[in-house]
Amino acid sequence: MRLLICVLVPLLCSAQFAAAPHTVGQGEVLHVTGPREAQSARLLGRTIRLFPQTGGESLGLMPVEIEAKPGEMPLEYLDGQGRVVHTELVTIRRVPYREQNVTLGKAQVELKPAPGELETVRALRQTVSIQRFWIEPFGPPLPGCVISPYGVKRLHNGKPTGSYHTGLDQRGTEGEPIHAVAAGVVRVVRMFNIHGGTVGIDHGQGVTSIYLHQARFAVQEGATVKAGDIIGYVGSTGRSTAPHLHWNLQVNGVAVNPLQWVSIQPCASAEPANSKKKTSKR
Ligand SMILES: [Zn+2]
Repeated sequence: MRLLICVLVPLLCSAQFAAAPHTVGQGEVLHVTGPREAQSARLLGRTIRLFPQTGGESLGLMPVEIEAKPGEMPLEYLDGQGRVVHTELVTIRRVPYREQNVTLGKAQVELKPAPGELETVRALRQTVSIQRFWIEPFGPPLPGCVISPYGVKRLHNGKPTGSYHTGLDQRGTEGEPIHAVAAGVVRVVRMFNIHGGTVGIDHGQGVTSIYLHQARFAVQEGATVKAGDIIGYVGSTGRSTAPHLHWNLQVNGVAVNPLQWVSIQPCASAEPANSKKKTSKR
């Protein structure tokens, strides 16, 4: 009945539907809240699940692709039968992500993924499990500053790769402990060829994180971790030229900007926005 009222007289129910922030940057995430009747949400052809929360509302996280067209877009809330029960306009803001060249040696260019490496990493990114472990705010995995931010368009030895930096690189010293950014279940602990020593955590309800190039591990697959637990140690394994941590935050299948979730300062020596300076970090 309430659903019917909401459909016929949307104003009566509009307070229960909310997407935040109302203006979202490319590569960022919308928190989509609705009444229990809303079971999924759709934006730009992507449908995400909304999960019942303890407060009685439904919540889902809508990632906005880094390539998404800026402007006003309809966000649709759907019921269990896939019917649109509410529509809200959200604004996607252009973010001026810069270009960056990465200098790689021959051996690194020629590295091939280990069997199952790319499939394992992709499967983690697409994991949407029902139980929610994550609570905001998230914490940084290392105290170190940001060497290379999310979203830069990558060139390898001057050639465009057609891809962008899916996570951020933080300064770290060999052997320095790496901490889980939020609570979750460890799904991946593997030594890969390109990603190097890799730990992947499922934080639940579509949120995952992955930490690369580790020297060694402090957890096993299947372990439950709390926010801040040590999961491994900084290294330079895989396609990496110096010890550092590359980590990704992933929401409903999309690598998103971690700096929307955690506050980490850029390194004093980091490149200013829109520069094309060379760097040796991956
Ligand atoms: Zn990186």
